[in-house]
Parts: sequence; C-alpha cells; structure tokens
Amino acid sequence: MVKTFDVAIAGGGIIGASIAFELAAQSLRVVVADRQSPGLEASWAAAGMLSPRPDSPRDVPLVPLAKESLRLYPQFVRAVEDVSGKPVNYAREGALEILFAPSEETDRERTVSELRALGLGVEPISLDTARVCEPSIARHPRAAVWLPDEGAVEPRLLVEGVLAGARGRGAEFRPHCPVTEFLLQRDRCVGFVAGGQQIAAGHVIVASGCFSGGIAAETNLMARYAPTRPVRGQMLALRPPEGLQLRRVLRSERGYLVPRKDGRVVAGSTKEDAGFEKIVTAAGIRKILDAALELCPGLESAEIVENWSGLRPGTPDDLPILGATDIDGLMIATGHYRNGILLAPVTAKLVREWITNGRSTFDAKPFSPLRFSGGVKSRTAAHTAD
Ligand SMILES: Cc1cc2nc3c(=O)[nH]c(=O)nc-3n(C[C@H](O)[C@H](O)[C@H](O)COP(=O)(O)OP(=O)(O)OC[C@H]3O[C@@H](n4cnc5c(N)ncnc54)[C@H](O)[C@@H]3O)c2cc1C
Repeated sequence: MVKTFDVAIAGGGIIGASIAFELAAQSLRVVVADRQSPGLEASWAAAGMLSPRPDSPRDVPLVPLAKESLRLYPQFVRAVEDVSGKPVNYAREGALEILFAPSEETDRERTVSELRALGLGVEPISLDTARVCEPSIARHPRAAVWLPDEGAVEPRLLVEGVLAGARGRGAEFRPHCPVTEFLLQRDRCVGFVAGGQQIAAGHVIVASGCFSGGIAAETNLMARYAPTRPVRGQMLALRPPEGLQLRRVLRSERGYLVPRKDGRVVAGSTKEDAGFEKIVTAAGIRKILDAALELCPGLESAEIVENWSGLRPGTPDDLPILGATDIDGLMIATGHYRNGILLAPVTAKLVREWITNGRSTFDAKPFSPLRFSGGVKSRTAAHTAD
C-alpha cells in the first residue's frame, strides 16, 4: 500500500531538514527521503559563517533574504536546541575583514558606504582597534572593517540538531532512498519514488542541494526548475599553538578563518568547478594555508587536524531557487550556494507559509524556479501514480 503524507521532501541536508522541522511543528505528516544518511553533504562541510554581506554585485538581490534569515537565527537556534536537546554553538561575535591590497585601502570607504546602503551593519576601524579585538591578526594589513551583526554556528552540530528536532516533532526519515522519479497526474505532482517505493504526498519539495538538477533527468523537469551544479569547496581544520585563540570570524579577499568553541579554527576555502569529485588537493591546501597565514601568521605552527571538501549547490545566477513550480504540488528549495547555513531559517519559514497560507510574508519572486523557463508552462510526460 502507498503511504500518504502531507509533505514529501527529497533531501535531508540543512535545507530539507529545516523545512521538515518547521512543517512538523504544524502537525503536518512529513517524510524526508535521502539517498544516503541525511546531513552528510554540503551542510556537513560548511564553515558556518552567518554573513549577509554580498561578495559581488550578483549577490545583491540576496541581501534582504539573508538579513531576514539572520534576524530569524536566534529563535531558530532556540527552537532547535529546545526540541533536540543538542547545542549548536551559535555565536554572534561579528566579523573582521582585513584588507591587504593597496587598492582595497582606497576602496574601503566606498565598500563601507555600499554595504550601509544595503542596510548592513559595518564600521571602518583602525588596525589598532582590530588588534584589540583579535590580537593575533597580521602585523601589516592596510586597513580593517568591522561587521558587528555577523555570527557563526557549527554546521555539523546544527544539522544534527535540526535532524533530531525534526524527528522529535514526528517527521519520518528514509535514509538510503534516492528519489528517482516524480509521480505526476495530469498537471499535478502527487508524490515521488524513493528507494524504489512510491510515496504519495500533497506537496513535494526538492531540497537535494547540488544533486537536485540530476533527479529524474530523463523528464528534464529539474533542468527547467532547479538547474543546480556542484561548486567544490575545500576546507582545513587547524589546532592553533598554545596561547593563540580566535574569537571572531576573520576574512580577507583570499580566504577566511572561523573559530570553533573547542579552540580549533576552520580555514577556507576554494571555489572550483570540478564536477561531483569531493577530494582535497595540494593546490587547494596551499591556497587555503596562504590565506590563513596571511590573516594570522601565528597559525604557522598550528596542527592540521582535518581536511575535507564539499559541494555547494550552485545555480546559473548564483541565487537560490525557492518556490512553487507551474506543476501543482511541486516546490523547489535549493541552490543556496555559499549561504545555505545562513538561509535555512528563512527558507523553512517561506515553505511553511506557502504550504499553510498559500502565500509568503516575504517577497521571494527573484528566487522563483520559473525564472529559468521564462514562464512557459512545463509539458512533461506524466508518470501515473498507482
Ligand atoms: C566548503 C563550504 C563552505 C561553506 N560555508 C558556508 C558558510 O560559511 N555559511 C553558509 O551559510 N553556507 C556555507 N556553505 C554552503 C552550505 O553548506 C550549502 O548552501 C548548504 O549546506 C546547502 O544545503 P542543502 O540541504 O541544500 O544541500 P546538502 O547539504 O548538499 O544536502 C542535500 C541532501 O540531498 C541528498 N540527496 C541528493 N540527491 C538525492 C536524491 N536523488 N534523493 C534524495 N536525496 C538526495 C543528499 O544526500 C544530501 O543529504 C558552504 C559550503 C561548502 C561546501
């Protein structure tokens, strides 16, 4: 017999898990199918910076969404920790951007005023003040900028907590059940096939990170609504020498350092189009260490305690893909690229509003899955549900 749910989610990373956590609180019957154990892809690999600062003009449309998610973070973390009983080591200590190039020094005022115009908290600060905040920063940067509202969280703890919280609220998880097919009846999606079994649901949500674009490839559906691609990021974890402790995120144009509660420092990252191959390369490690030691030369004698790489869900315009498709019952929540940890609370809230109210309190039009098909209604071969 086909089991029926209110909502079926393809993918149990931070996005699928957060949606399940949010929807299960509404007493909806939620199932999450994952092709492996949930939470072990990009969400496990992330640095955990909570930064709404755009890196390039392409990111600017994301800023209001990112700010809203940052605003939601304290209540999201409280709910996750309460329900799961697991700490996620969320901290709101701000971030320091350290500028090394002469051009960055002259550009600083412009950067500061551009970020202020976007409503972001940002202060130019003297190098002396920056060193009072973080004594271990390099001796010879040109300038520094302080972003007081930024925070950080430990993604592995967060995803574990959200998964436990969603289970605690009654969501069902089906590990090792890849979603291979969508069940369509006329113009409506009525479920999916996961691990060879049909799962019927009133709403289907695709949240499979960089793998979303490849689901049911023969139907071309995800090519239209969720054309994701993997963007590899390599990372290192360092154990600093005795006496060296970072409290805040440090960033430069070349890389970043994110302190963990146990004293370790996570250093990142690379941005590579290398397909689905998750390896750590010599060139990747060199790039990360060069940036890390430029920011904080005292890390020279740090022990490298871990290295890993993960696949960010990239999209053609670097923006996430959020919202309904033109197939009733089929929704997309993916493509969070470099910001999925930050954007989890707002994504979960949007999906909850769409499902329970039919509309959202936040304008998410720029992120619509219909932007890739120019609004032409999809015509696909229907897979009849049993
Ligand atoms: C090195 C690195 C550093 C990062 N740093 C930050 C940061 O500092 N701050 C930040 O906000 N973000 C950061 N990110 C980005 C963030 O990690 C991602 O945007 C986020 O994790 C995406 O979450 P997700 O749930 O969409 O995808 P994922 O975590 O990749 O989860 C997708 C899930 O879908 C499952 N799946 C795949 N195919 C199928 C299928 N056919 N059927 C069922 N399930 C399937 C997978 O097994 C997986 O569990 C970083 C990413 C990387 C790689």
